[in-house]
Amino acid sequence: PSLDSVKVAVRVRPFSQREKDAGSRCVISMNSGSTSIYDPKNPSHVKTFTFDLAYWSHSGFEKDKDGTLVSAGSNSRYSGQSEVFRDLGQGVLDSAWQGYNATLLAYGQTGSGKSYSMIGYGANRGIIPVVCEELFEVIQNQEKNKQHQVTFSMLEIYNEQVIDLLSKAKKPGGLKVREDQQQGFYVDGLKLVPCDSYAQIERLMEQGTKIRTTASTSMNATSSRSHMVITIQFKQIFLEEDLTKQSIINLVDLAGSERQKSSGSEGDRLREGTRVNLSLTTLGNVISALADVAMGKKVIHIPYRDSVLTKLLQSALGGNSRTIMIAAVSPADICYEETLSTLRYAERYLHIVFMSCKICNNCI
Ligand code: ADP
Ligand code: MG
Repeated sequence: PSLDSVKVAVRVRPFSQREKDAGSRCVISMNSGSTSIYDPKNPSHVKTFTFDLAYWSHSGFEKDKDGTLVSAGSNSRYSGQSEVFRDLGQGVLDSAWQGYNATLLAYGQTGSGKSYSMIGYGANRGIIPVVCEELFEVIQNQEKNKQHQVTFSMLEIYNEQVIDLLSKAKKPGGLKVREDQQQGFYVDGLKLVPCDSYAQIERLMEQGTKIRTTASTSMNATSSRSHMVITIQFKQIFLEEDLTKQSIINLVDLAGSERQKSSGSEGDRLREGTRVNLSLTTLGNVISALADVAMGKKVIHIPYRDSVLTKLLQSALGGNSRTIMIAAVSPADICYEETLSTLRYAERYLHIVFMSCKICNNCI
């Protein structure tokens, strides 16, 4: 098992208009891989975290002709989308070609930049579209003695219900998650669309993104309380050798991690909130349990079954997958508490680095 089977990256975005209007100060600094956060009430109070990667996307950028954010000059240490893809997306692709599973999770409070990194906006395309495009680019250049199959699915977990984002027909109560001896947990009746071009995936993603449930909160008018999971199944068939290689890629844009009280939710919204948190909370509990195992503590139970998200990600989190978490954070003092809690969550994740092989026998 290689140590880079689990990787954690942190990315800090520019100030939002709201933060600028509030006269926010930046409480994050990054220094050769380490990320520090200053307590705005007590600036000498600094906490420093070391992750595998730290992306400074807060300042030092300019817009080029088509709206892409690029670094402004050679002195700038700004990290744009292409750098993030090169470090994280390329590894996902490499895994897929080698026949390993890969999972990419974006974690962070609403408005911190999860969707920006995963999907992107306009010319600033995120990891998912670029991964899909590159996949087909390479497929096109393969030898003729190989066949390739790509299937695409896109779902949302909302209130612990699974909604197929590629299907217009709404199932009351959502789709059922079932368990199978061979494939583990799976979503019964989920549309798996065979694709043979990037353009096709682009259309599906556009369609799915439109259907994705959103509800506004005091944090952000388009705040999302749902988890989005895109799964790409990739199969290579070597015709002459009677051999196939298969890989599953999970790309997960998690719901906002903010705590209930800070989002000012009420009534129905509150109920939604606590339910969404069940998946996030359980993910945290699973990560903690795995981290405990890694540190040699006796763990009797890893609570995969307690939420829909952790059921669907069980094999990814159990070590049978290369797994990357992107922790997205706001730079602003007003988000200090949430940012600190995101960094702590991500830090726990870091601890599961060394354990993959203790839990399963088929990790990378
Ligand atoms: P989330 O998905 O976490 O709720 P978004 O990805 O939608 O947050 O980001 C919120 C806003 O911040 C968007 O307007 C987005 O364009 C901007 N943003 C986020 N990350 C970056 C970044 N790295 N560079 C520039 N703008 C960003
Ligand atoms: Mg989002």
